[in-house]
Amino acid sequence: MQHLDKIYINGEFVTPHGTEVLDLINPVTGEKAADVRLADEVDTQNAIAAAQAAFQTFRYTGKEERIGYLNKMHEILKRRRDELVEVMMDEYGCPLYFSSLLIDGAVQDFKNMAELMKTYDLEPIVGRSKVRLEPVGVVGVIIPWNSSNGFIATKVSAAIAAGCTVVIKPSELSARQTQVMMECFHEAGLPKGVVNFVPGKGTVVGAEITRNPGINKITFTGSTGVGKTIAKGAVDTMKRVTLELGGKAPNIVLDDADFETVIPQALFACYINSGQACVAATRLLVPAHRLNEVNDIARKALAESVKVGLPQDPTTTIGPMVSEGHYHNVQNYIRIGIEEDKAELLAGGLGKPEGREAGNFVKATVFTNVDNRMRIAQEEIFGPVLCIIPYKDVDDAIRIANDSPFGLAAYVNGKDRATIDYIASRIDAGRICINGDFHDDMTPFGGFKQSGYGREFGAYGLDAYLEPKAVIG
Ligand code: NAD
Repeated sequence: MQHLDKIYINGEFVTPHGTEVLDLINPVTGEKAADVRLADEVDTQNAIAAAQAAFQTFRYTGKEERIGYLNKMHEILKRRRDELVEVMMDEYGCPLYFSSLLIDGAVQDFKNMAELMKTYDLEPIVGRSKVRLEPVGVVGVIIPWNSSNGFIATKVSAAIAAGCTVVIKPSELSARQTQVMMECFHEAGLPKGVVNFVPGKGTVVGAEITRNPGINKITFTGSTGVGKTIAKGAVDTMKRVTLELGGKAPNIVLDDADFETVIPQALFACYINSGQACVAATRLLVPAHRLNEVNDIARKALAESVKVGLPQDPTTTIGPMVSEGHYHNVQNYIRIGIEEDKAELLAGGLGKPEGREAGNFVKATVFTNVDNRMRIAQEEIFGPVLCIIPYKDVDDAIRIANDSPFGLAAYVNGKDRATIDYIASRIDAGRICINGDFHDDMTPFGGFKQSGYGREFGAYGLDAYLEPKAVIG
């Protein structure tokens, strides 16, 4: 069993001042896998002080030096890729295919930022003046467990490129993944204090980052509720804030789509990361007159190709939920769906799948003929629960898609490009993914409405770490 009792401040692995110890439970077996000693407010203050001191030098480093660190990180992560995938599967149960995808993305993030910096103009001329794009300062990075090292890579690669220093607060459920990432940064040999890690509780470490005047910007990924708390707290010291929050993505299937292909794909788009994904396509919008056909195809695909199983099994679609508490949250939503009595339970339902009683496994669940006003269609469940919602015509589909507090991602499947473009222009979401294409590295990622504000990846992502200073005359 692993005992994790070091945090990373000012280029050194140190014993935390905090004394609280948290047990980490294996989501597959329900048994204790490790324990972690958590950082507290004092540790957070020490990390912020180190990042502030380092910023005074790091802010003036040139592009070449920063590109060197980004490339070094890329090489180190590439070398330790399999280990990063392994610990991600083991610690929170993310299935192999998806852990691999996320870690490969993390490795690439550093390379992409290094490449972008080669051509990114940090001193553009506007009118007759020069605009200096200067690093925003010390950045607090607060992230969830569902792709911990992926989020660190996206956010910290941009921060380093901009010349910022960082204090990272990963989820308390990601301590083992964090340990590997801390080792990677240490090996990269960045100047002391540029990157600091304080794993601890949100209400302790996260709250200190939010209120401490030494932090200039917070980049947060997590739930909409916590995002609002951080935004309110951050305004007192006028911190810049980027919020990547929850989602309830619609997936519109048009009448001219190939249903035999698209409906099975729609199940996988909902069940990515075992349904624990902000971009999961959890609302499947289908033409009302073809609902029975959709149900039949979905039933068949569930039986033939959706597998709830061990994360390490390459054929597994859905692994366990991250924690017992979260398992119960998902069960509660399935109960609400059944009790609301406006929809039909097509597959899955309450309880654990046969043979998977030990861990936090949830059945692959589908509700059909769902009314979009139901709670299961409005609220983020963050588990393998799909709502099939019938629509009358294209404008009705757009209306339903937009009838949500969220606006992170949306999906459209069909043949007629003009109809697809019409839908893409009318859906309020930060990302519209067409016919199965779901990611393009350098395009902006972020939400409309209560899915947050600000963007990540590529030049849009880098902009968020820079303050423009106009030098006139
Ligand atoms: P969460 O909001 O509970 O926690 C996220 C982080 O915030 C954790 O590190 C937590 O410790 C910290 N935190 C909690 N309370 C805090 C407080 N008062 N002050 C400061 N920090 C605090 O989210 P979670 O359960 O870990 O993750 C799931 C959520 O993340 C879902 O809502 C999901 O949609 C969202 N998410 C969004 C994106 C995106 O890019 N938009 C990506 C992945 C996950």
